[in-house]
Amino acid sequence: METVIFIIIAGLFVGLIAGEIAWTLVITLLLLVGWNLFYQRKLLGWLQKGRNAPPPEARGMWGEIFHMLHRRQQSHHRRKKRLAQMVGRFQEMTSALPDAAVLLGENGTIVWFNQAAKQLLGLHRSTDSGQRIGNLLRHPLFLQQFNTEAGEAGFNIPSPIDENISLQVWHIPLAQNQSLLIARDVSQQQQLEQMRRDFVANVSHEMRTPLTVIRGFIETMIDSQDPDLEAWIDSVEMMAQQSGRMENLIDDLLLLSKVERRQEQRELQQVVVSSLIKEIVNGGQPLADEKGIQVELELDDELRLLGNERELYSAFNNLFTNAIRYTPADGKIQITWRQNDNCGATLSVVDSGIGIPPQHLNRITERFYRVDVGRSRDMGGTGLGLAIVKHVLNRHNAQLKVESRLNVGSRFSCQFDPDQVINAEKRVAV
Ligand code: ADP
Repeated sequence: METVIFIIIAGLFVGLIAGEIAWTLVITLLLLVGWNLFYQRKLLGWLQKGRNAPPPEARGMWGEIFHMLHRRQQSHHRRKKRLAQMVGRFQEMTSALPDAAVLLGENGTIVWFNQAAKQLLGLHRSTDSGQRIGNLLRHPLFLQQFNTEAGEAGFNIPSPIDENISLQVWHIPLAQNQSLLIARDVSQQQQLEQMRRDFVANVSHEMRTPLTVIRGFIETMIDSQDPDLEAWIDSVEMMAQQSGRMENLIDDLLLLSKVERRQEQRELQQVVVSSLIKEIVNGGQPLADEKGIQVELELDDELRLLGNERELYSAFNNLFTNAIRYTPADGKIQITWRQNDNCGATLSVVDSGIGIPPQHLNRITERFYRVDVGRSRDMGGTGLGLAIVKHVLNRHNAQLKVESRLNVGSRFSCQFDPDQVINAEKRVAV
């Protein structure tokens, strides 16, 4: 800038001396325009040569312009290189991932996916980018879960390219209407789980027959009142008691492996819960009377469940026998069955029993988990009751909620979804 001002002042000065200010000014300005045009052409030529060409030599203002442009070009190039390296590393990483990852844009359109998504979900880079994921993955459970809000909970579907591959899928919301779909092959895990369940079911089944024979003989020995057995009668009665416990355990193991099985097509019935509860309470009444426990019922006769009666019987019976087991003499048990605020229904079993310390509450539905092993055994518990309850409820779209206060009592609530409940209105509609 200074150079330009200097040239104009020098032009004016020469013009003054020569007495031709106007002409000298015109010539000076023309020289300046020519100088600018000359460097503009150089700039254009340089920009056209590409980023590797050195900047043209120049002095003054144009020298600075070339220098600054060159520096910016270099730093832009370095940033681009760093970004390209990062993207390269990210792509390498995601291709090495065994899980399928699909980035989805608005309305579930596919923006990007990794290598594993091709193998597990059968996506093709050329044809499927920009398509809606719901048009490519057509499994009903996928569509149902995908159309409900994206969330952290995973769900299982078979792979669209091979029915034998079982996928666990997560749909995770991201910012700006985007979401991420992750799918993991869990076939091997499921096979191992199935093997474990089959093993337990087979062993239990095999043990049941010899045990029934042994128990039969023991009962015959007790009934015979043979004087020769007089000295052994205590031991024989203990054998009867222990074999009875083993039988209960085997029955619970068989039931558990049945309800643990994956959701196969089951026949669903309309279950009249109030009658079921009355039947259960009648069965347990002698034990409750023996302990002086008062049982109160508040049951909505109109409210029914869509489900499997035998499974529901086992679950509710376990809750009731637990309430009797863990409530001291002269206690109270209340069972209520009514519609809840969400238009579903809740069955609650409330006792005034020993309660459960808070640190155990999260674990009591695990198999064989007991707060007090000795007490549970003495009461004839197998440690499988609540595991059965949990699985039966899972199969009926219901949740188990447990609230308890030590030495005050416990509340076990089974909360059923509206879809599972049939009330008087729905029956009329049907
Ligand atoms: P168990 O056959 O030992 O009763 P469950 O699976 O039915 O096994 O219950 C697990 C444990 O939870 C029990 O051992 C007991 O410690 C505790 N529990 C279950 N129900 C109650 C209850 N109503 N009151 C207090 N503790 C309970």
